[in-house]
Amino acid sequence: MNERTALLKQRIQDARSMICFTGAGISTESGIPDFRSPGTGLWQQQKPIPFQDFIADEVIRQESWRRRFEGPAVIERATPNRGHEIMARWVQEGRCRAIVTQNVDGLHQRAGAAAEQVLEVHGNATYARCLSCERRYELAELAEQFRTHGQVAPCEACGGILKTATISFGQAMPSAVMSAAEAHCRAADLCLVAGSSLVVYPAAGLPELAKASGAFLAIINREPTPMDGIADLVIHGELGETLASLVE
Ligand code: NAD
Repeated sequence: MNERTALLKQRIQDARSMICFTGAGISTESGIPDFRSPGTGLWQQQKPIPFQDFIADEVIRQESWRRRFEGPAVIERATPNRGHEIMARWVQEGRCRAIVTQNVDGLHQRAGAAAEQVLEVHGNATYARCLSCERRYELAELAEQFRTHGQVAPCEACGGILKTATISFGQAMPSAVMSAAEAHCRAADLCLVAGSSLVVYPAAGLPELAKASGAFLAIINREPTPMDGIADLVIHGELGETLASLVE
């Protein structure tokens, strides 16, 4: 084990109030591509649909459902990897107070982290909600509708627009989740960032808030991030392997 990994291992052991902040990088080892990795990132292949366009145009809405139901079912097929499992164990042991995640794949919970301790600041892509009355819809039901009728109809209760329960670019952040995440960041003595390019705001402001509130800021990422300069410890490496060496 190298010096930085040994220091981080010690910091984790000593922490009284640790949070993990995760991005798409923690799920790449589960086969879900991230957005910004060179070559494989989804960003280069398919630009995300901004919220305003989704709201304004029925054709764009149906295109968004087509992508969801006719594209490869990467989220459905994915299973948690050892990074998710290690973090879930930290939560179960009471070592980690919360996992604040930008991910929408639900893999932290499927690895065994209690849902109340996983704060999904960008929502969840495994189900849908009505944007007006917030009624929940299961994707299997909407996929069947899309296959049969070639479209997803408005909410059967109120006629509102249905959308996966994610936060798209341009959409307001979920205020209760953000407030809870901010409270955890203010109370943290260690903030471990794993697999995020740290360029998507306001989410990327959360590790900054933890650092400004006195937490030790550690970043594990394959590539450099704009926050490396303010971090107390940076490890450029693969997540599964690095996290595994922290618990050996
Ligand atoms: P990002 O794609 O901008 O950055 C991911 C970072 O992880 C990159 O810097 C990359 O170098 C690093 N990385 C990838 N695999 C790694 C590995 N195995 N080990 C170490 N580092 C690795 O992701 P982001 O910062 O989360 O921002 C993208 C946005 O896209 C988020 O809002 C997120 O909601 C969304 N997104 C989510 C998923 C998901 O839920 N799994 C997937 C793609 C995009």
